[in-house]
Amino acid sequence: MKASMSTLTSVPLPPRASKEITVSYLGELLFNAGFIDAKQKVEVDNVDRQWRAQHKGKTTSTRSEATRSEEDVSPFKALAAMNLTDASGNSTRMDDFLLARLIAEDAHQPFFKIDPLKLDVEMIESKISRPFARKHKMIPVAIRDGKLVVSMVNPFDTQAIDSYRHMAKQDIEIVVSSESDVMGVITEQYGFRSAVTKAERDLKGGIDLSNLEQYVKLKSGAEIESSDSHIVNAVDYLLQHAYDSRASDIHIEPKREFAVIRFRIDGVLHEIQRVPKLVNLAITSRLKTMCRMDIAERRRPQDGRIKTENSGKETELRVSTLPTAFGEKVVMRIFDPEILIRDLSGLGFYDDELKVFADWITRPHGIILVTGPTGSGKTVTLYSALKSLASPEINITTIEDPVEMIWDDFNQTSVQSKIGITFASALRTILRQDPDIIMVGEIRDQETAQNAVQAALTGHLVFSTLHTNDASSSITRLVDLGIQPFLISSTLIGAMAQRLMRKICDDCKRNRPLTVEEAGMLSLQAPPGKRIIVKEGAGCIRCRNTGYFGRTGIFEILPIDNSIRDLIDRSEDFLKIKEMAIKRGMRTLRQAALRKLAEGNTTFEEVVRVTGI
Ligand SMILES: [Zn+2]
Repeated sequence: MKASMSTLTSVPLPPRASKEITVSYLGELLFNAGFIDAKQKVEVDNVDRQWRAQHKGKTTSTRSEATRSEEDVSPFKALAAMNLTDASGNSTRMDDFLLARLIAEDAHQPFFKIDPLKLDVEMIESKISRPFARKHKMIPVAIRDGKLVVSMVNPFDTQAIDSYRHMAKQDIEIVVSSESDVMGVITEQYGFRSAVTKAERDLKGGIDLSNLEQYVKLKSGAEIESSDSHIVNAVDYLLQHAYDSRASDIHIEPKREFAVIRFRIDGVLHEIQRVPKLVNLAITSRLKTMCRMDIAERRRPQDGRIKTENSGKETELRVSTLPTAFGEKVVMRIFDPEILIRDLSGLGFYDDELKVFADWITRPHGIILVTGPTGSGKTVTLYSALKSLASPEINITTIEDPVEMIWDDFNQTSVQSKIGITFASALRTILRQDPDIIMVGEIRDQETAQNAVQAALTGHLVFSTLHTNDASSSITRLVDLGIQPFLISSTLIGAMAQRLMRKICDDCKRNRPLTVEEAGMLSLQAPPGKRIIVKEGAGCIRCRNTGYFGRTGIFEILPIDNSIRDLIDRSEDFLKIKEMAIKRGMRTLRQAALRKLAEGNTTFEEVVRVTGI
């Protein structure tokens, strides 16, 4: 495709007619290139009619709404939602990159993949206004031989090209880029990068670069702030971008020449930006000032908090710094109450599972264990359970390390090993405070385990977590911590293992067949001559091209009934217990994951990542 494009672009072209990009037009491109067959083409045309009806309804409304609809109504999104499969049998991704390549061919213009890290933001800002860029889905990406190279989603929009040429007062050269690239640059990169570029220019202007360390040490945070509103803007953009991306953590990592900014989204880190070292120092100073850290202290780790506002609600950032070889690394955890405390029904339970868990948590006394590695969603499950139980008549007390989310209905204590407050000692104190329900952040030593059992025996409901891989081995773990089997069998209500799986983005979900090897990895066998079809995300703007949006829990729920109690009393190992539990209907984590896969909620890759092979 590349070769043919470069020869085509060298041919002088007649003026082109204006053309709108519609779903039907995109379907035609796919059809002509052999990616869809005649039957699929008919389906596309049907979607096109719906899309037009929607589009028309929107653009005839008031002006401000019309402007917004330019972004909302995307023929690319409408087509992606159809999950078309490649009729040529090559499983080609029918994403907006493929479509942009086909449009480029049709327009006899080169396709251009935008690399946001290579854009000259100052040039962009001086050459186009943000509203114009957004409205016409175009962005200047480079200056080549005195000509402005402009990335467009629709190279047939001659009206936009003409008015832009007039505005830019410069020769322009059109290249075609994907909608996600162009809109991504406009919405995400523009604000932040332009603030960073300006800040760099200001900082470079005033100081001797070779003496940078000295400079930052000498200047107080307040001075850097007041001297550079661009840094303040950059930090604001960064935080807003993190909230908009549903990030749970922001990592700012200094390297030799620059710093990398990464967001953790749905449990996975994504590189978002690279900023010049100079600007990073100023950003770090700004953040340290915001959480009242000692700005001159750069050799010792520090902790702090920032309260910010995110669409009307207060969001807390927990900030920590760590000196590394190339400077201070900053990690910010974003605490969003809506993410940490939810309704039990929003955690990913199936109906039967929710029923069992809801029964456990309404028992008057006993121990409920939630197990899994760090990041498996245990805390959210416990908070959500406690929230559903909270009422003025009962006393809920928690011991946590640290308190993750402050909630008015609970009495929360934090472990502070420096002054001798441990899980075990705090638990002893709490028992004198007349609690009904106790949440112990984690059982990791014998004393805590014993105190938890004691609390359950004296009529309290105790929630806690253990670091075990599955539900059954939590029993072995308690035995290893020195708890007598008969005490376990008489206090334990149930153990639940859990993991979080990324959900496929609804906007770009599509079918894909499993290869024979992949099916084999999951011990699945397709009927002869057939393939197992699962879903995956193609990647779109909404999901930042990851194909995933949000997470869901999977659970392995082990209720302690008489048959399990027997095995515990006889000190049988966890495999025996697991075997019996499965016989009694327990779904393993793997089975739960496969169910989510079969339902099209998650991908093959997630099943492998989360449940191992
Ligand atoms: Zn998507």
